Amino acid sequence: MLKPYFMKTIKTDNDKNIIYKKNLIIAGPCSAESEEQLVTTAIELQKIKKVDILRAGIWKPRTNPGSFEGVGVKGLPWLIKAKQITGLPTAVEVATSKHVEDVLNFDIDVLWIGARTTVSPFSIQNIADALNGSEKPVFIKNPVNPDIKLWIGAIERLQKAGIVNIGLIHRGFTSYGNTEYRNPPLWQVPIEMKRLFPKLPMLCDPSHICGKRNNLHVVMQTSVDLDYDGIIIESHYNPDIALTDKEQQITPATLKQLLQQTIWKKVHSNETAFVSELERLREQINYLDEELISLMADRMKIAKNIGEIKKNHNITLLQSSRYNEILDRAISKGIALDLSEVFIKSYIEAIHIESLRIQNTNP
Ligand code: PEP
Ligand code: MN
Repeated sequence: MLKPYFMKTIKTDNDKNIIYKKNLIIAGPCSAESEEQLVTTAIELQKIKKVDILRAGIWKPRTNPGSFEGVGVKGLPWLIKAKQITGLPTAVEVATSKHVEDVLNFDIDVLWIGARTTVSPFSIQNIADALNGSEKPVFIKNPVNPDIKLWIGAIERLQKAGIVNIGLIHRGFTSYGNTEYRNPPLWQVPIEMKRLFPKLPMLCDPSHICGKRNNLHVVMQTSVDLDYDGIIIESHYNPDIALTDKEQQITPATLKQLLQQTIWKKVHSNETAFVSELERLREQINYLDEELISLMADRMKIAKNIGEIKKNHNITLLQSSRYNEILDRAISKGIALDLSEVFIKSYIEAIHIESLRIQNTNP
């Protein structure tokens, strides 16, 4: 059963989805390495009084064979011991039906599915089948690639297996050559998931997004500003000797500081002056959005006429020199109006792709 001390159930309607406690904090080492390491870390985490759940990887999906692949099932009793000492519920990653069986046997409180597993519908189906009927909360990390359909598919497979306590974890996406992040966040993907599944809690995993310690706070704050429901973060009593992901793990004391620095925002407020000001500005935004959309519709009608002329004269739809001209004009106008070049580029690109699609559609 779900533990009332780390979550409250807020049901807004009659369906079975449960919204987890707001600002849920899951913390713990990347990997359970020894009983001493896990218990020491758990005690320190419990002392900062902000952590709700203890995490630890038991089976580690490593990119290179030969690196430390987790202690396996022998680590599960260490988690139980850490829970007995600290009272913290436990969370473990599962990647196979055997992992699910072991974790359920030890009555681990929360399960999560890693990013390398979410990409595989076969693995997800095996996990869903093994979980059949379980009331345990299961968090699904985003797939390593920004394929929203795979993430949605994983939710649907679990839901079909009768799992009702599903949550999501945003841990960033694989990219090549990005030096700022280990897994760049691509915030638009989780934002879209929050729109599609407003009742599923969304946690941020700043550790795997950043891959190092120094950006963690910025990523945490962004997730709070985007109204995420909590954080899952790696913490080790002595990160420098950690067997996995040592560059990104932080001590419980550092975690405490980061959590104190974070500005937790209210989604709604009852202060009337503030609310009416917000409403007034939101009305302006709605009005401008409507205008933008009708302007866009006019623009697309013209693009369609151009498409017919191109077809009649047998010229290619894509005219690179014209596209460059449009882009240059938009960028200089945008910059003059304080819009960023990156934004203008992606905006014009989206319009251009849609124009080509319309021109390519037979009437
Ligand atoms: C982890 O949380 O330890 C982990 C392996 O993360 P991910 O699945 O995001 O790579
Ligand atoms: Mn890790």
